[in-house]
Amino acid sequence: MALKHDAGRGNPMPRWPLYILAALALAMAVFALIRFLPDRDLPVKGDAPDTDAPGLEQNNTPDQENVSGDEPQAGPNADVLAEADLLARGYYYDEALALLEGKEGDDIAAKRTEFEGLKAALVPYTGRYYHIFFHSLIIDTDLAFDNIGHSAKGYNEWMTTVSEFQKMLPLLLENDFVLYDITELVELDANGKAQPKQILLPEGKKPLVISIDDVNYYDYMKTDGFADRLDVDENGRVVTIVKDADGTEHATYDGDVMPILDSFVLEHPEFSFRGAKGIVAETGYAGAFGYRITDLDWFTPDEQKAMLAKVEEIAQALRNWGWQISSHSYTHNQYWNKLTITMDEMAYDTGRWKNEIEPYVGETNIFISPFGVHFGADEERFRYLIEEGGFNIYCPVGSNMNAWFEDDVFYMERLNLDGYTMIKHPERVSNHFFDPALVLDPARPPMD
Ligand SMILES: [Zn+2]
Repeated sequence: MALKHDAGRGNPMPRWPLYILAALALAMAVFALIRFLPDRDLPVKGDAPDTDAPGLEQNNTPDQENVSGDEPQAGPNADVLAEADLLARGYYYDEALALLEGKEGDDIAAKRTEFEGLKAALVPYTGRYYHIFFHSLIIDTDLAFDNIGHSAKGYNEWMTTVSEFQKMLPLLLENDFVLYDITELVELDANGKAQPKQILLPEGKKPLVISIDDVNYYDYMKTDGFADRLDVDENGRVVTIVKDADGTEHATYDGDVMPILDSFVLEHPEFSFRGAKGIVAETGYAGAFGYRITDLDWFTPDEQKAMLAKVEEIAQALRNWGWQISSHSYTHNQYWNKLTITMDEMAYDTGRWKNEIEPYVGETNIFISPFGVHFGADEERFRYLIEEGGFNIYCPVGSNMNAWFEDDVFYMERLNLDGYTMIKHPERVSNHFFDPALVLDPARPPMD
């Protein structure tokens, strides 16, 4: 049995105040730079408006609710109060209180009372689970929908555009969703049975899990208006590398779900429960994060070393910023889709992911099924995947977002928030989240 007996161990980063503060301070500095540097000598496009991305205008006016707290603070405690406020907005109440320890003043005392009140007001959440998923976002709709390369139909159905994703986030926040760490939804009891773990949130808030499938930047997408690969900036933050038509590369903060969500949470810490972001799902047959680490013999020894180190660096940066990484199978072969996968194929697929991807992206107990497939809980192939893969969170696709606990596995179905669902089944979105008409990209072609 390769099962992990503590589902909560998925995030290897200890969450102590120093780490949080360092990350927040760094994040604020980076954010301030991206936002307000008039002369952009950083290698980033950042939030600069792209001519062809209609959803970006909202990013040009910095939110009045600034990142250092709601009200301007003054006096000798101003800095510590601002830092503590930021922590408390992200539900780090104990850490915020710890920061005030040993400090004196009426303002400190009032803040302490406020944080203790907020902490006491957390209530057990008893409602349903929510899990939505995306693929890598379309940056350039002209290229994606030009029917050169991959078909426009496929992208129109299964993808979401940058502008759509950027418009969804404030709507999700307004509707009381809070990003929640999937590994904190389940725990194993003494007998190894998966059980719901208590969720504590402010009254009225709802936990939301987000995942992104196939964050591999496959070759077929390279000329269709997607990011080329991920990288890490000089401050340890994940960026998207985007190539212009002439091959010029830019590091951007708006080229896929991860950097966009990281920016949004910097502005709105209350959208993330204790730093949780989402799940980045990797296959293996084309490497990871846009680096062909499973075709190493195409490269020189130096290139091989650099690519493997880069994948490790990106994985660690993602985890530092609250992301989980999951397996999405190695092959993503049609034998999954048709459920014809044999035991031998399951062993091959699982073995290659364990041996060639996991050592670089890190251990995970989450499996996001290719094509969203379901297996019977007792099927031999499924048990092999769970036990040899070391997974106890299994996420297929299901528009009702059902979630259940059976034996040693937590099953969490996901709703695809893509063109197909938004256009063909808008009620699946509006029943829970928002009216898709508010976000749909006008650049999408008609869908038949
Ligand atoms: Zn997939």
